Amino acid sequence: MANINVNAITRENIRAMKAYSSARDEFQGEASCFMDANENPYNSPLNRYPDPHQRILKKEISRLYNIDDSGIFLGNGSDEAIDLLFRAFCIPGKSNVISMDPSYGMYEVCAAINDIEFRKVLLRNDFSLDADAILAAADENSRLVFLCSPNNPSSNLLDKNSILKIVRNFKGIVVLDEAYIDFSGFEGMLPEVKNNNNLVVLRTFSKAWGMAGVRLGMAFADKEIIEILTRIKYPYNVNQLSQDIMLEHIKKNGLKNKWVEEIVKARKFLEKELLKIDAVLEVYPSDANFLLVKTKDPKRIYNFLKDKGIIVRDRSAVSLSEGCLRITVGTESENDTLLKALIQYDNL
Ligand SMILES: *Cc1c(COP(=O)(O)O)cnc(C)c1O
Repeated sequence: MANINVNAITRENIRAMKAYSSARDEFQGEASCFMDANENPYNSPLNRYPDPHQRILKKEISRLYNIDDSGIFLGNGSDEAIDLLFRAFCIPGKSNVISMDPSYGMYEVCAAINDIEFRKVLLRNDFSLDADAILAAADENSRLVFLCSPNNPSSNLLDKNSILKIVRNFKGIVVLDEAYIDFSGFEGMLPEVKNNNNLVVLRTFSKAWGMAGVRLGMAFADKEIIEILTRIKYPYNVNQLSQDIMLEHIKKNGLKNKWVEEIVKARKFLEKELLKIDAVLEVYPSDANFLLVKTKDPKRIYNFLKDKGIIVRDRSAVSLSEGCLRITVGTESENDTLLKALIQYDNL
């Protein structure tokens, strides 16, 4: 159990400020004349500002994940929550954050935008998490630790006990990004949020749910952290179209589960077939919807595929990922197209 003093690591200006109070904050409910928000009275329903607190959608998400509404933040992708965590808890030019390396690039970008020192701690050669090395990188100015499980780009789940060791011993906030958790067969660490007031779990509708275009990400944490993120977000950060479409889509939860099943099956097939390609040296074990593939000549393969209209991600310049391409699992026909192209490449 971790129990840190969140107030003590909240930036002073954030602690002191009041949230912008919108018309929709001051009056909620039904009325015959809405004359409080300077909206255009025509063009219903798009003329109205959306619910700033996404109450109906949060209720549905609360049911879905069995977490109280007060522990949920919704943002314009999980990227919004990442940026807000920096703005709430890190003092520009003074604080630092720690991240495992390699991992998702947005953590470092947000650190740079907010002028926060970014400390990278290498994963082990098998991409497993070295909890002691992460903890050793921390000092009194460390405010956030970023962990990603399953990790992007290495595609592996992190060891639960190593994550918990960091959560229990780090004196700041641990941000655990579970964007790909649905593909792993593991329920993830959401149940640990109630035991640790310094654990923020990020989830997104962009991957397993198939809703990347809608831009909706979730952060789950102790209500004290959620209250701070909510206070500093843009008042109407999730538009009404996104709220409505997501609400409808959640009710078709079965569709997501069916997609996940298909994708995991296709991932296993793709992994097996890729190993038959001469140019492929290794396919790393994946708990996600993509494969990290070590090749003999990543740039040449990348360009060969690109010329055929098949776009993969060159990750060969990333730590511990020499020679690697990252390949997202596609439809059956996309996967076949890729494999046929690679067989051609072998026969050049
Ligand atoms: C794709 C991805 C996300 C999703 O970000 P959104 O802003 O919610 O689309 C988050 N974290 C990681 C590691 C990802 O790869």
